[in-house]
Amino acid sequence: MCGIVGYIGNKQASPILLDALEKLEYRGYDSAGIAVIDNNKINIKKCIGKIENLRSLVANDEKNGSHIYGNVGIGHTRWATHGKPSDVNSHPHISQSGMVAVVHNGIVENYMELRTFLESKGYKFVSDTDTEIIVQLIDFYYTGDPVAAVRQAISRLSGSYALGIMFADYPWQLIAFRKGSPLIIGLSDGENYIASDIPAILEHTKKIIRLGEQELAVITSESVSVFNSFGERIHKEVQEITWNIDAAQKGGYEHFMIKEIMEQPTVIKNTVSPRISASAIDLGLKNITDKDFRRITNVVIVACGSAYHVGVVAKMLIEKYARIPARAEIASEFRYSDPMVNENTLTIVISQSGETIDTQYAMREAKSKGSKTLSIVNVVGSSIASESDDVIYTWAGTEIAVATTKAYSAQLAVSYLLAFHIAKCRGCIGEKEEQELISELERIPDDIEKLLEGKNQIQFMASKYFNAQSIFFIGRNIDHALALEGSLKLKEVSYIHSEAYAAGELKHGTISLIEDGTLVVALATYMPLFEKTVSNIKEVKARGAQVIAITSDNTSIPEDVADNVVYIPSGYKYIEPMLSIIPLQLFAYYVAANRGCDIDKPRNLAKSVTVE
Ligand code: GLU
Repeated sequence: MCGIVGYIGNKQASPILLDALEKLEYRGYDSAGIAVIDNNKINIKKCIGKIENLRSLVANDEKNGSHIYGNVGIGHTRWATHGKPSDVNSHPHISQSGMVAVVHNGIVENYMELRTFLESKGYKFVSDTDTEIIVQLIDFYYTGDPVAAVRQAISRLSGSYALGIMFADYPWQLIAFRKGSPLIIGLSDGENYIASDIPAILEHTKKIIRLGEQELAVITSESVSVFNSFGERIHKEVQEITWNIDAAQKGGYEHFMIKEIMEQPTVIKNTVSPRISASAIDLGLKNITDKDFRRITNVVIVACGSAYHVGVVAKMLIEKYARIPARAEIASEFRYSDPMVNENTLTIVISQSGETIDTQYAMREAKSKGSKTLSIVNVVGSSIASESDDVIYTWAGTEIAVATTKAYSAQLAVSYLLAFHIAKCRGCIGEKEEQELISELERIPDDIEKLLEGKNQIQFMASKYFNAQSIFFIGRNIDHALALEGSLKLKEVSYIHSEAYAAGELKHGTISLIEDGTLVVALATYMPLFEKTVSNIKEVKARGAQVIAITSDNTSIPEDVADNVVYIPSGYKYIEPMLSIIPLQLFAYYVAANRGCDIDKPRNLAKSVTVE
């Protein structure tokens, strides 16, 4: 959700922290701050708004003699959960005694009870955050041994949290702890780093350690010691990051979103090709076997946001081809619904970051009921990937734009592979169908390329309709599942109200909202129901709607039915509808661009949602 950074070495910490925080901006935040130790005193600068504001604050204070010098420091971008975005609620937080400073990602669930406890001990609180409880609690237990104090404090916390901690009288060390929220350590010569994510520190080092669940690290400029929850020192693998900072740059495009849309042919290729071996699908699963796929009696797919929309497609594919009852569930609802899953259920969890807390908890719920869990995740080694019984990675690379595009498409491609693999294991399809699917998936990147080449048409339509007040997306079957995503994409980046409807459902109520000029984006690529969808388009057209239709290039939609038609390459048996996501993503992007929106970082949204 938000970002944590930390530095210890012999350089000035604050410029490094500010740069590192900027690299984490994509995660979404509302305020930022840094703390640095200078002569056994912790100095803090923090404020609401963008890192730019924080930079100005630091620069102005410097001019006025209130400097922030020192070789050890922590920094934070906050996405408020407890207490509104404000200067005082921003992190880092400092204890009443001034001895301890903390940056925190996540939520302390029992903070009220702890606040009352600490108040009874004479602590006064200045912010509304749950985080301030952590720093005061550590202070309360501090008698000269920082690690002991941190351990005692965290043993009283419930919830999920990643922490960066400094003690004024221990300027030679940082402490990092993780439960739930992600945290990495970057290793370099005579200096070390902590961060929520790799881009923050990539310009300084490519060597990282990923902190595991409930692991605590003591970091000096020369050493990193990691301890498990029993306090035992443990060995951690050092991972060498092979991608460079350019991978996290915009590559000449105006926004990350369009760059990532344009990367989709490569992403699909990268995701599909390694799964084809000797002309058959090979998912490389280790712990979930073909026997498991034969044994299961039902499938549940849990996810949030766009990943949930992939789940809706996956449900249809699994039911259609593998003939197993399947359902797609919103993770935050599933978790608390006492779900009907058992050892005969396969739970598929989908998350780009692999850190989505709602999805992670839903997965744990399914696991606790005996279900096998299979994750579809983009970030290698992430929490969901590590905790699930098995994982299929989408090799989409780093996705920086908050609104997902390439990770969504990669998840979709994996869903086809998985559905067909399950179907094959269960004898529902044979080699011939498997071959057909493989050749279709291999063709997809070129056809996406063709659609991307035609982006001017979409840009033109966006310039016609960007002032729309409200937009409807309609479609049937998989077209409906894609309409859900098209509508969400538009809402996320352009802030236009929009709804996705099953085309046949509109007449049962919502059609009353269609009036002269209302824009309807109609998907008619699912050929078995083409005629029915065209009838639904006619229904809205008759009520004055402006229509953009997306259909296959081997059909035609009359001019009096649609005002604009986007044709997608035909000739697919299984996966044609998948292609229509490309014009939908482009439309959302260009509408937002016309409206001057903050496309890569839409208001109120975060890339990796690590709170419930
Ligand atoms: N719960 C903390 C707060 O509201 C941290 C939120 C975050 O992860 O940024 O300040």
